[in-house]
Amino acid sequence: MKKGLLIVVSGPAGSGKGTVNAHLLKTDDFVYSVSATTRAPRAGEVDGINYHFISKQEFLRRIDNGDMLEYTEYCGNFYGTPKKEAEEVLNSGKNLILEIEVEGAENIKRKYPDAVLILLLPPSFSVQEKRLRGRATETEEKITERLARAKQEITHANSYDYVVYNYDGKDMDAANDIMAIVNAEKHSMTRNTTVEQDYLNN
Ligand code: 5GP
Repeated sequence: MKKGLLIVVSGPAGSGKGTVNAHLLKTDDFVYSVSATTRAPRAGEVDGINYHFISKQEFLRRIDNGDMLEYTEYCGNFYGTPKKEAEEVLNSGKNLILEIEVEGAENIKRKYPDAVLILLLPPSFSVQEKRLRGRATETEEKITERLARAKQEITHANSYDYVVYNYDGKDMDAANDIMAIVNAEKHSMTRNTTVEQDYLNN
């Protein structure tokens, strides 16, 4: 069986990546990688579904054990991708979505050059600011910190293979764009190295 695609979707706070990825996950082809984090759960977040919420001590233990595919520190908290779960999904032939930030994305590309890196963006910085303030799930200090981080992250846009824009109310279009990218990747010659043999021998 062919291995699934390792897909990274990075989007700054307010890019709508949660909503867009939810559309992808309604299909059977995609599995969401549930990260571990030391951040406190937000209202409505469920342990084991949105994140594995763990202590800093436990997080550091997992790093030492080699249990993380990648990890980073973001705005004062640790975030990391559990290795075992990721490998199981990819080996089952399903596509795995890592919803991670820029540094993690770059680390994944270094380790797995086959990974597809997609940058999901709001239409502009000012729209993003409006969305974040409208969401009101965080303090002003956190919002300012996340907006500053977004400005720093956009300087790494060139690390990505694709960019997708999430316009207001058009999250389904953004999800369709991602599905089109994944489909095209699956048909690329570099991922289909036995075309000639298959053609002649089947
Ligand atoms: P949030 O606190 O808003 O849920 O996530 C903050 C940032 O951390 C987001 O950009 C999110 O994509 C990123 N993130 C979530 N999980 C991981 C992970 O496992 N690894 C890395 N590198 N970043 C992550």
